[in-house]
Amino acid sequence: MITVFDEAQRLHAPQGFIVAGKLQPSPERPDRIDALMQGVKRIGGPIVKPPPIGRERLELVHTPRYLDFLENVWIRWSRLPDAGPYPVPNIHALGRSTLAEVSYPDGVVGQCGYHIGDGSAPITAETWVSALASTSSAAHAADLLLGGEKLVYALCRPPGHHAAADVAAGFCYISNAALAAEILNRAGRRVAILDIDVHHGNGTEAVFYERADVLTVSLHAEPQRFYPFFWGYATETGRGAGEGYNLNLPLPRGTVLADYRKALDIAFDRIAKFAPDTLVVAAGLDIAIDDPFKGFAIETQGFNTIGRAIRELNLPMLVVQEGGYPSPSLGANLAELLGGLGA
Ligand SMILES: [Zn+2]
Repeated sequence: MITVFDEAQRLHAPQGFIVAGKLQPSPERPDRIDALMQGVKRIGGPIVKPPPIGRERLELVHTPRYLDFLENVWIRWSRLPDAGPYPVPNIHALGRSTLAEVSYPDGVVGQCGYHIGDGSAPITAETWVSALASTSSAAHAADLLLGGEKLVYALCRPPGHHAAADVAAGFCYISNAALAAEILNRAGRRVAILDIDVHHGNGTEAVFYERADVLTVSLHAEPQRFYPFFWGYATETGRGAGEGYNLNLPLPRGTVLADYRKALDIAFDRIAKFAPDTLVVAAGLDIAIDDPFKGFAIETQGFNTIGRAIRELNLPMLVVQEGGYPSPSLGANLAELLGGLGA
């Protein structure tokens, strides 16, 4: 199995994110990479550095003005008199989803309200470089799959599945799995995305919500009391041409392997009906019982069971790292998942 990773992904090191109104230490830390690399090394195989990603590929899923914002917001923010440590909106463009049009402001504070979705997307001087490196890994992994590889792991950090076309949120800045899926789709592959992160993949869902050519399926903790709160409900089935091409399988907090496995079978039935020739697995490891987010209760051996079940779909697979936060089992969980997938 080839792993794709770029050391520049370590540079993004925000000191905190907003929890209960306070800046708290962020679990989305660079040392996640060390734990994940332990898992990769247990599996073995080459680790390759991706080439830099070009702007035209980023625009496959993101708007030009969002990319301009993300690249320049730190320096613009830091020029504000007495600026705080991170760009933080003091107003959000809440009506954007329901009004025909919301005007786009020129100033950095207003643009922060347009593009920063929540208090868990801190942007530092290094965020753009690390986010680009992360998505370069996903894109290169897609290229390797197109070159004939059957299983490629993109160690993407920061993660991507909460980032939409023009919004950063939930530790995510560029929608890595969506971008990789779109690269594969444009190359003629029929792609399904299976998101197993404990949080709903709302960014990925949004990218493909009105499309029938890429299937999106997400298993996650019920959003009534769990991030991202406003998305991830079973009623979200797609819109317009995309109606029926998004499947959400919300599960109760504390879900154990046996129940998770049943939900996976529902996901597999939908995927089989779609008849894809390529699978993108948005691999959040925060379903682990000892993950700090305490969503589900999957033990280390369960990751192997989940991997083996997914492998039975018998599809070329691109595994994109999503969440999974510092815990004693993080590296072992990745190794078990990848091992189960056939690495
Ligand atoms: Zn997550």
